[in-house]
Order: sequence, then structure tokens, then C-alpha cells
Amino acid sequence: MNSRPSRVKRFFRNLGIGLGVLLAILVVKALLTKSRQIAATPADVPAIDDAKAAEHLGRTITFQTISHQSPAEDDPAAFTALHKALEEMYPRVHQTLTREIVGGGSLLYTWKGKDASLPPVIYLAHMDVVPVEPGTEGDWQKPPFSGAIDGGYVWGRGTIDFKLAVVGLLEAAESLLGQGFSPSRTVYFAFGHDEEVSGKKGASAIVDLLKSRGVRASYVLDEGMVITEGILKGIDRPVALIGLAEKGYVSVELVVESQGGHSSMPPRPTPAGILAAAIQKLETNPMPARIAGPARSLFETLAPEMPFGNRVILSNLWLLSPIAAKVLSGSPATDALLRTTTAPTMLEGSVKENVLPKRVRAVVNFRVLPGDTVQSVLDHVKDVVADPRVQSKAVEGSGSQDPSPVSDVAGPGYKSIEKTVRQIFPDAIVAPSLVLGATDSRYYQGIADAVYRFSPQRMKDEDRARFHGTNERVSVKNFGECVRFYAQLVKNTDSL
Ligand SMILES: [Zn+2]
Repeated sequence: MNSRPSRVKRFFRNLGIGLGVLLAILVVKALLTKSRQIAATPADVPAIDDAKAAEHLGRTITFQTISHQSPAEDDPAAFTALHKALEEMYPRVHQTLTREIVGGGSLLYTWKGKDASLPPVIYLAHMDVVPVEPGTEGDWQKPPFSGAIDGGYVWGRGTIDFKLAVVGLLEAAESLLGQGFSPSRTVYFAFGHDEEVSGKKGASAIVDLLKSRGVRASYVLDEGMVITEGILKGIDRPVALIGLAEKGYVSVELVVESQGGHSSMPPRPTPAGILAAAIQKLETNPMPARIAGPARSLFETLAPEMPFGNRVILSNLWLLSPIAAKVLSGSPATDALLRTTTAPTMLEGSVKENVLPKRVRAVVNFRVLPGDTVQSVLDHVKDVVADPRVQSKAVEGSGSQDPSPVSDVAGPGYKSIEKTVRQIFPDAIVAPSLVLGATDSRYYQGIADAVYRFSPQRMKDEDRARFHGTNERVSVKNFGECVRFYAQLVKNTDSL
């Protein structure tokens, strides 16, 4: 009896010592975690005339190369006119590189390398743009297809997504040719004309063509991530995010069928009630979060750049992963990096207020994390709903696809992009990441060792609404940086 208080005391003393040691380990580990940023080596970057480059970009914006939801509304003449303008603006490119029109309106440029034994590299962009939402034309500070240069910006649809890269790459090549540069490894520029509506005609046909020629690329670079400024909490430097993979996609429909009838004598529960319960279950039981793959690489790379508290947690994911996952899943932007997301998007029921529906239907859109699959999502839905009255299946023709493979964060392509970012944007941190949407690059997976998704545009929080939105624009200064980035990237990749 007498020994009990002292035993309890000893236990708490030992516990205290244990926790102290653990805390010390966590802090020491955080302090020892070194920055993964490579030194910003100076580069002999080609001189670029920012004003002229901006003018060229502005000119391409004036062609209304819109991909409409219904292809009948598209204007092939706009693409032809754009092709012609590119020929006029980039004479050296069109003398030296081979240009082919593929799939009706896409362009494939081949810049033949001197050494056929080196694997080539493929840079992607797309010439089509999304429509301007009817009724919002008046909200633009400059008309959406003006390509106006005003206040230090080039304005218009396509300046962000993604004529920026079409013009950026050609401008870079024209300047490199002017300097007498000739690549050792073959460089391809592949510019789609239907990226915004699936890439089924353009990207897919270009890949078939390259495949038939036995092309196997060292890496492919496409859009997907940018240089964020002030978007990641706790980091005041710009962060260049390089997408190693993109999430998959599946829309699942849930259907409950019944007799229908008059609403004055409803059964209990009603079909709508059964469906609502199923949606509720899916929302409260999402697929599990995990800090793995590209998201883990992202947080481990950012950890040493973070304020102390975050740094302790993110440097110790070996132990604190569950706590970190809980915190990160509290915000939709970071939650989407950690799990397959669940988003109910459509609901259909009766067409009349006093008629019970014979059929109620919901569509739930899932964005599939690498590691999960379309099939594992369908299984998850059945398990969680667990109600034989609710039928579930993937919506037909909605483009289900598994997540992309994850490209190597230590591969030569990544190294090359990383080095180039540090040269052109020395103030920026470079970190790998995961793309939440889908890009044309999925078609290229089979003909490249790696696919990276990055474009060198700076983006603040307020700029996100400009993407596919109103007042799309890029600053003249940033566009100059983009051109320099592409020129330097071609050079760095050539000396891999
Ligand atoms: Zn795009």
C-alpha cells in the first residue's frame, strides 16, 4: 500500500522524461532537416525582347480558337489563321524545324538533334481556349479577344491557358536559332487544338504518329502547375510546383427506383430519402487520407522552408503523419492532395411537386488519388452505401480514368526543370506536387519515361479566378520570364 504513491510518481516521472526525449528528437530532426533547394547557378540566358514577345502573344490571342461544348460551333478557319500568324512571326523556326498539321488542326514541330542516340524531349501546349461565358463579356477590363497590352499586362483568353506556352516555346526557339544553337537531342513541340474538350483529335493523333515513328521521349513537359505566390500558408517566397502525377476521374451515378404515385400517401422512406441517406453516407465516409506519393514529396520538400511549428510536424511525418493528415484535410485545397475526393454534383427527381418520382438519380464525382483506382472507388461506393435499393455504377461516357503513373522526382527531366527554375526564378522554391485535374499529357504516358506538369507563370490567389474566367492576363514581365525559362530549359535538357 505504501509503495503505491511512489510507483505512480515514478511512472509519471518516467513518462515526463520519455515525452521530453521524444520532443527533443522531433525538434532536433526538424532542425537537422536541410533545405532541398539546389544552388541557383547563374545562366547565360538568351536575350529576349519582352515587349516584342508580349506583342506576339497578343497577336495570337486575337484568333478565336475556341473549343465549344458542341464542335459544330468551332471555327477551323481561326486555327488556320493562327498557324499562318505563327509562320510569319517565327521565320527561323519555320525554316529549320519540320512542321506537320496533325488531327485536323494540331501542330507538331520536330527540331532534329545532331545525336540520334539521345532520347528526345517533348514540350506540350495547346492553341484552343475555352469560350467566354455569355453575359460576362462586359466584365472584362479589355475585350477577351483583343490581345491588348495595357498596364503592363497582355490581356485576353489564352494568355494563361495556354497560348502562353505556344508562343513562349516558339519565341524561345526563334531566339536560340538566332544565336546559332542547334540541339543534340531532338526536340518536339506538340500543340493541340482540342485540349479543352478532351484532346481526342489532337494529342491522341500526335501520340499515334510519334508511336508509329518509334519515338520514346526522355520526358514530356505539359501544363498543370505554376509558380504560386502567397498561396501556400507560411511560405512567403514563390513556390514552383512541378506535377509528378495527375489524379484520376470517375463519376458514379446512384439510382433508386420505385412505384412513383401521388405525394399525398408517401411510403416511408421515400426514394428521395433513400438516395439522400446514401449521399450522406458517402460524404461522411470519404476514402481514407494518406500523406503518400507526390503529396508526401511536396510536404517533405516544403518542411525545411516552413515556420518552426509546421516544420517540426512536416519533418517528422514518420511519427506525426496522422496528426498532419488531420490538420491538412481541414482545408479543401490540401485535403484534395491527400485523398480521393467525393463531390455530389447532380440530383434528379420528380418533375412535378406533387408526384413521387419513379426514379431518383444522383451523380457523385470522384477525383482518384494515385494508389486508388476507378474500380476501388466503385467498390468503396457499394461498401459504404450498403443498401440494395440503391444501384450504383460509373456514368457511361464520362471519361473514367485511373490516376496517372507517378514520374520520378529524381529523374533527369525533373532535375532539368528544377535547375532551370532556380536559374530564371532564383527567389523561388521548387517542389514536386500532384495535379488535381486532367491534362493532355495523359496521352503521352506510353511514349515517355516521365511526364512533368509545370508552366513558368506566376500566380497569386486572386489570379486563380482568371483561369477559364474573366480578365485572363499575364504580365509582360512574367511572359518574358516564361520565354527565358523555355530557352534555358531547352539548353539545360540538351546537356543532360
Ligand atoms: Zn490548358
